[in-house]
Amino acid sequence: MPNTVREEMEDRHLGRRQFMRRSVAGVALAGSSSAALGADSGARPRRTGKREGTVRTEADVLVVGGGTAGTIAAIQAARAGAKTALVERGTQLGGTATTGGVSFPGLFDAWGKQIIAGIGWELVKRAVELDKGTLPDFSQVPARHWQNQVHVNQFVYALLAEEACVEAGVTVAYYESPLSVEQTVDGWLVDTVGPGTYRRVTCQQIIDCTGGASVVGMLGLPRLRDSETQPGSLLYKLGGVHPVGRGQLEQLYVHGADSSTSVTLTEANLNGRRLLLKKLRGQKDTSRLVHMQPETAHRETYRIRGETVITVEDYTSGRVFDDAVCYAFYPVDLHTPSGVKPKPLARGTVPTIGLRALVPKGSRDIMVAGRCVSSDRLANSGLRVQASCMAMGQAAGAAAALAAQRKTTPIEVPLEDIRELLRHHGAIVPSA
Ligand SMILES: Cc1cc2nc3c(=O)[nH]c(=O)nc-3n(C[C@H](O)[C@H](O)[C@H](O)COP(=O)(O)OP(=O)(O)OC[C@H]3O[C@@H](n4cnc5c(N)ncnc54)[C@H](O)[C@@H]3O)c2cc1C
Repeated sequence: MPNTVREEMEDRHLGRRQFMRRSVAGVALAGSSSAALGADSGARPRRTGKREGTVRTEADVLVVGGGTAGTIAAIQAARAGAKTALVERGTQLGGTATTGGVSFPGLFDAWGKQIIAGIGWELVKRAVELDKGTLPDFSQVPARHWQNQVHVNQFVYALLAEEACVEAGVTVAYYESPLSVEQTVDGWLVDTVGPGTYRRVTCQQIIDCTGGASVVGMLGLPRLRDSETQPGSLLYKLGGVHPVGRGQLEQLYVHGADSSTSVTLTEANLNGRRLLLKKLRGQKDTSRLVHMQPETAHRETYRIRGETVITVEDYTSGRVFDDAVCYAFYPVDLHTPSGVKPKPLARGTVPTIGLRALVPKGSRDIMVAGRCVSSDRLANSGLRVQASCMAMGQAAGAAAALAAQRKTTPIEVPLEDIRELLRHHGAIVPSA
């Protein structure tokens, strides 16, 4: 973690004056009255180990990260009868699809028919209907793949996703992140922290939907990451009005964007906004900035090394895994510093995702869903799109709920039971 190391070193090299300033600020923030300060002539800043605001949550399934995949995982687990909690570091659900502004999920169809449905599709469809938009006609094979992406109003989607979670009985915890994760004899003990809140979660199953597999990383389970990663993007709209849910936003590549830590997230936001400000200042016309997403969206950080790793050959050949739980469909779509040239799949090819690609190698009782799916970099460039992330989320939610009910681990649940539950909740499941 080079950035963390850099921070610690900077702290150690703080000059005496800066140190004093920090200490004084600490006293003032502690809220002590001046009389109390006077009484303690030493007046040293106090550190408290007492955790005020501790909340206890007992769950069967804990989902970490309420983004594209996590929202669907939580709804599925809860609808299947599991007591479900969802911890999200941000302020709303949807992740890259809402906060990142990538509100054009794809692809739910391939070669003239729908291949992904279920809870993700239900929310997308309801968002389009409520916003009086239009859905693509999946019986038509479009000339370009992106023509069948669904244009969704990101604000409506966030509202509906939250409503669906609450209605399913999910305990939603915004502004929180895991501080520690410990495996116990019958599950997990997870401490999370947010402003003024310490939460102790006991649960049987974890689904890590943080995008970059942060929980898997905290546990020291294997993750994959290439030295080069795709750029992130800050989405915005310059000039005119922003037709929410109709047109796509403009985007600026943010090279080196890394969603792994709060330090790297901050850096990606600072860089994205600096670039946008430069662009704004360089504008020749009178176009005004009418829309900007609150954070830089990330394409790539860590992927897990799972019980299976989906290779680009598996992906492009449309391999049907024996434990396939959903389809995926998108060109191989690797963004490089000079842009992207999508490589479409051969006609008729529809890749699948097996359950074991959602299970970190050598683990029990933890799964992932979303862009951190176990895959090589090229396969991941296609697998990471939103409809596939939603389908993975639903599959992980179903497997985790059944595992919790049966006091076992997801890959020991008979596959047909997972598939049956998924079909019962509207998902399309590949047949071998
Ligand atoms: C610029 C851009 C353009 C794209 N274009 C398309 C497109 O046209 N069509 C398409 O379908 N897909 C597109 N994608 C890909 C797709 O949007 C993402 O890969 C997908 O949304 C990722 O879903 P996810 O659930 O894995 O992660 P996210 O949706 O990013 O969700 C992760 C969630 O976890 C939370 N989180 C992270 N760490 C923690 C933590 N420690 N504690 C608590 N919460 C945490 C985050 O706040 C976030 O809400 C694009 C992506 C980008 C960046």
